[in-house]
Amino acid sequence: MTGKFVLLNTADEFPKHAHAIFYLDQDQRLVFRDQRQFGVMKLIESSRLSQTKGISELAPEPFGEEFTLEYLRSLLKRSHRSLKTLLLDQTKVLGLGNIYAAEALFRARINPFKPANELASRRVPQLYEAIREVLQFAVDNIRGSISLEEGFSYGAAFESFWQVYEREGEPCVKCGSKIRRATHGGRSTYWCPKCQRR
Ligand SMILES: [Zn+2]
Repeated sequence: MTGKFVLLNTADEFPKHAHAIFYLDQDQRLVFRDQRQFGVMKLIESSRLSQTKGISELAPEPFGEEFTLEYLRSLLKRSHRSLKTLLLDQTKVLGLGNIYAAEALFRARINPFKPANELASRRVPQLYEAIREVLQFAVDNIRGSISLEEGFSYGAAFESFWQVYEREGEPCVKCGSKIRRATHGGRSTYWCPKCQRR
């Protein structure tokens, strides 16, 4: 969550909270800093990766072959949870955090509080495309934004492209209505009350 990788050259001193160090070619060191100590590292054989706890429970990845429109449709049909909560569940859809779930729902013009099984079947493709689009956008834009020397800050790199996230009270980029925020399932949710009415 808050951990960072930092690339150090020969003369650089170790930063505070350096918990793991990888020694690279040309005397460089890749350091994992983790002030809050949420990070976990395990050393395991690659052949055992898929059976490893923490990996084996993970859901299909949105760019993988298993993440089909049919997969998403049947997933939504079986859940009474809100769409926002369901999309954050890493055992159902992998890789959407609080920011991307909010952004994907905004792109698809879907209300984040709607129970998953109440989303009309014809609207599922919109959500499916929005999930992939928002992640693809991030992947495309991440390349120029990462500075390993300074440490990569997730928030700072993408703030400029968020359309609803952390934009409470600002005008919606599509309709001009004020973006709203509510705490839902312990996390902040942002949405446009007009574009995402239903
Ligand atoms: Zn709007």
